[in-house]
Amino acid sequence: MNIELQCCALFILFTIAVMFRREKKLDLMNRKLFEHAISACFACLTFDILSIVLINMSVHNGFSPFITGIVCRLYIMLLVMQGYLGYVYAYTSMLPRDKTWAKVVRIISHSIFVVGEILMLVLPIGFTAEGRVVYSYGMSTIVAYVLSSIYILSTIVTTIAYRKQMPGRRFTAMILWQGIWMLAAIIQFCQPQILLVGFASAFGMVILYIQLENPSEYIDGSTGLFTTNALSAYVHDKYRYGKRFSMFTAQIHYLNNYVDYAMEQNAVMRTARALVNLGPEPAFRIDDDTFCVLYDDKDRMFDKAANIKRQKDGVKDVPAKGTYLLIPDSMEMSGPDEFFRFLHTYLESEEEITVANEEMVLKLREQNAVKEMIDDALISDRVEVFYQPFYNVKESRFDEAEALVRIRQEDGEIVPPGVFIPVAEETGQIIPLGFRVLEKVCGFLAKGDAQKLGLEQVGINVSAAQFDHDNPANSVMENMDRYKIDPGLINLEITETAAAENREVMLMNMDKLRRKGIEFSLDDFGTGRSNIDYFVNMPVKTIKFDYSFTRGFFDNEKIKHVLTGMVDMLHKMNMSVVVEGIETEEQMQVMKDMGVEYIQGFYYSRPVPEKEFLSFLASNNAHTA
Ligand code: C2E
Ligand code: MG
Ligand code: MG
Repeated sequence: MNIELQCCALFILFTIAVMFRREKKLDLMNRKLFEHAISACFACLTFDILSIVLINMSVHNGFSPFITGIVCRLYIMLLVMQGYLGYVYAYTSMLPRDKTWAKVVRIISHSIFVVGEILMLVLPIGFTAEGRVVYSYGMSTIVAYVLSSIYILSTIVTTIAYRKQMPGRRFTAMILWQGIWMLAAIIQFCQPQILLVGFASAFGMVILYIQLENPSEYIDGSTGLFTTNALSAYVHDKYRYGKRFSMFTAQIHYLNNYVDYAMEQNAVMRTARALVNLGPEPAFRIDDDTFCVLYDDKDRMFDKAANIKRQKDGVKDVPAKGTYLLIPDSMEMSGPDEFFRFLHTYLESEEEITVANEEMVLKLREQNAVKEMIDDALISDRVEVFYQPFYNVKESRFDEAEALVRIRQEDGEIVPPGVFIPVAEETGQIIPLGFRVLEKVCGFLAKGDAQKLGLEQVGINVSAAQFDHDNPANSVMENMDRYKIDPGLINLEITETAAAENREVMLMNMDKLRRKGIEFSLDDFGTGRSNIDYFVNMPVKTIKFDYSFTRGFFDNEKIKHVLTGMVDMLHKMNMSVVVEGIETEEQMQVMKDMGVEYIQGFYYSRPVPEKEFLSFLASNNAHTA
C-alpha cells in the first residue's frame, strides 16, 4: 500500500512532538499555535494513512464505502485545517492587532474556514484505488484543494508583505515551509501515485521547529534559565496581548578586583537556583550577572524580590553586592521598545534598590525625544555653531572665541547645549555631533573672514566620549587637512571629568594632536574633582575657570583667596587663565586687576551666530587693526 512516506512523516512528527513537549517552554502565543499546528499535522497524517487503507479495503475487499467516505472527508477537512492553522501562525505574529482592517481580515478568513469545513462535510465525495494510485474526488475534494491553495498563498503573501518586520530567519523558515507544501501539492496533483503532501507538511514542521520554535535557543546553557532572546519574545507577547506584568531584576556586582572565575560561576549558579526555587514564574539570565523574573501580580513580585534580597544579604562568602530594579507595572511603559529602553537605562543605576515609577518613565521619554531631536538635527543640518569672543586683557582686543553648539528647531527656536549634550554623551551621538561642530568651525575658519578681523584661535569643546573611540586624533587631523586649516587656529577644551575617565587614551590622543600644532585648555575648572595632576601633567596651555568658581570670588572670601592663589600659581607654570561668566563691569574690572589673560562673558557678548560674531569683531577690534 502507498503509505510508506506517510508512516515516515508520522515518525518524524512524533519525534519533534516529543522533543518539543519535553523542553522547558515559555508561555508564548506562537508556541501555542505551533503546538496546535503539530497536533493538526499529526491528526491529518493519521487520517491520511487510514483513508488510504480504507479506500483499498473498500475497493478490493468490499469494506463499507460509507465509513471510508467519512474518513476521507475527515482527512481533507483536517488538511484544510492544517493550512488554516499555518496561516493563523503566520498572521498572528504579523498583522497588527488593533487595526480594524486586520480584524476584518481575521473574521473573513475564519468564516471562510468554517464555511469550507461545512461544505466538505456535506458535498459529495468519491474515491478510487488502482495499484499505487489512491485518491478521493468530487466537489468536497475540490473545495479542499481550493481552500488549501488559498491558505498557502495567503501565508506566503502575508509573510512577504511583512518581511521587513520579522527576522530574516523567520522569513526564510515560513517561505520554505509553505513553498515545500505547495510544491508537494502540485507534484501530487500531476502524479497521483506520489503521495507527497503528508510528508511535506511533516517536513515543514521540522523546519519550523529547528528555525523558530526550538526551545534550546531560549535556554541559557550554564544556568538553565531563559535567555535574553526569550525575554524579548515574552515581553513582546505580553504587550501584544495586553497582559500586564511585573518584573524584578537582580544584578551581582563583584567587589574583588581580580577575576575569580570559579567564585563568579558559583555565585551565578546559586542565584539561578534561588530564582528557580521562588516559584513557577519564568526566570531569565539577561546578562552575565543580571537576572530577572516576571510576575502577573505586583504584590507577589515585591514579596519574591524581598525574598531574593534577604537570601543575598545572608550570603557572606561571596564578595559581591546586589542591586535590584523593580518594575511593578509594565503598563507604565508604552510598549516593548520603551520597556527595554527603560531596563537598559536603569540597570546602570548605582542605587541598591530602584523602583520604577511614572516619573522615571517620563524622564526616559523626554530623553528619547531629545535623542530623536539630535538625530533629526544631524540629518536635516540644523546643528549650528555660535561663537562667544574672549577679551584679551593684555592686547585689549578679542582674538579668541569659543564655539558653542546649538540646535535650531524646525520652528526656528534655538535649543541650548545643556538640553542635549548630556543625552548625546549617553547615547553616543556626541561623536557625530562633535564632528559636525568641528566641520562647521573648520568651514567658518576656511573662509578666513574672522582671521582678517583679528581672530587667532577658536576653542571647541570635546566630551570624554569623543576620546573614547578609534583614533579621534586622526579624524580631527583629516578635517584640518580637508579644509586646509592651520591647526594652530584650534584649541580643544577638555574637562576634568573627561580627563579622569580615560586618562591614557586621552593623553595619547592629546599628544598626537599637540605634535600637529593643536592646543588644549582645561575647561570648567573649579567644578569637579580638581586634581593638580590634570594641569601639571597634561599638555594644557590654558585653564578656564568655570563661572560658578569665578562667581564665588565675589561672594566667598575663601574662594577669593583660592582664586588669587591659583592665578598666581598658574602664571608661575607659564599657563594662561580664562575666566568665564563675567557679566558686569565691576566683575570685569576685578578680574583685570587680578591679572587674568582672558575674560569671557555676557558683559562683552553672548554666544552669537557667525554673522553677528563677525560684526562684533569688526566693530570691537577695529582700533587694533
Ligand atoms: P562651557 O564650555 O563651559 O561653555 C561656557 C558656557 O557658559 C556657555 O554655555 C556660555 O553661553 C556660558 N556663558 C558664557 N558667558 C556667560 C555669562 O556671562 N553668564 C552666564 N550665565 N553664562 C555664560 P552654553 O553655550 O549653554 O554651553 C554649555 C556647555 O555645553 C558648555 O560649557 C560645554 O560644556 C557644552 N558644550 C557646548 N558646545 C559643545 C560642543 O560643541 N561639544 C561639547 N562636547 N560640549 C559643548
Ligand atoms: Mg567650553
Ligand atoms: Mg566652561
